[in-house]
Amino acid sequence: MSINILLGPPGSGKGTQAKRLVAKFPLTHLSTGDILRDAVSKETALGLAVKALMAEGKLVDDDTVNGLVFARLQDETQGVLFDGYPRTIHQAEALQQFMSSKGLSLGSVVLVEVPREVLEARVVGRRVCTGCGEIYHLATKPPKQDGVCDLCGSPLKHRSDDTAEAFRKRMDEFDSTFLPLLGFYQRQPGFHAVNGDQDPNSVFEQLQTLFQENA
Ligand code: AMP
Repeated sequence: MSINILLGPPGSGKGTQAKRLVAKFPLTHLSTGDILRDAVSKETALGLAVKALMAEGKLVDDDTVNGLVFARLQDETQGVLFDGYPRTIHQAEALQQFMSSKGLSLGSVVLVEVPREVLEARVVGRRVCTGCGEIYHLATKPPKQDGVCDLCGSPLKHRSDDTAEAFRKRMDEFDSTFLPLLGFYQRQPGFHAVNGDQDPNSVFEQLQTLFQENA
């Protein structure tokens, strides 16, 4: 079973691309952000503990996130595609140790690069379906009917951490944790970077080629 990773700042399109990739390749999409948001919406003990932190755009602590991820990996039989994990060098090291102990291999690690000035507008205009998770943007990919998902008819919502203020906090978190993480993965043979500042279909084509080569 291989572990694949999409790296990139908030708003780089990791979530959108991950959804498309798992529809094409036999991989399970594991978004730690989605797992945590689900816990928040179900008001589990974990959700209640992380709700305020997440709304402010701060990171959840490494041990909590690693614990969630490793529990999911225990049940996995096919490869996985991480989106939003690892986020810190400690998470990357813990994942590597877990993988060695289970004999799991690293497949593709792809950095989705987008200039900073593009990211904030993407995030602030983003709306997410509360039913199927489809991602919209008020300017570049609006739903046919305001506030309603084209695919499943559920209401769309604006994530509490997709405000301009929380976005800036998330970028600060990203800046303080990303370079060591990038250094760690750049050394791996499956590492590549793609230009995420193009239309989503072109980004997907490049990702598809990389994942095919590494499959
Ligand atoms: P995302 O959907 O990936 O943008 O994540 C949304 C929020 O969930 C982040 O701002 C963090 O508060 C939390 N989160 C998601 N993944 C991680 C992670 N790997 N480590 C720490 N916090 C995370």
